[in-house]
Amino acid sequence: MKKYSLFCNMCGREIKTEKGVVQEGVLSVEQNWGYFSEKDGEQHSFDLCECCYDRLVRQFKLPITVKRQTELL
Ligand SMILES: [Zn+2]
Repeated sequence: MKKYSLFCNMCGREIKTEKGVVQEGVLSVEQNWGYFSEKDGEQHSFDLCECCYDRLVRQFKLPITVKRQTELL
């Protein structure tokens, strides 16, 4: 299995993984910018540890939407 390490882009900390499986809460974003953006054709991706995610969303003017995943079933 290839060596797989994951880092939080915000704080630079290595995300804990075991055999390629993430062992903690992490937000992985992959965004394909489209025609109406100024980044047309670019794919951006980053990962945030849970701590940095919390810090980020606390800066939002409007709160994030939280749903219990069981409601989706
Ligand atoms: Zn972080």
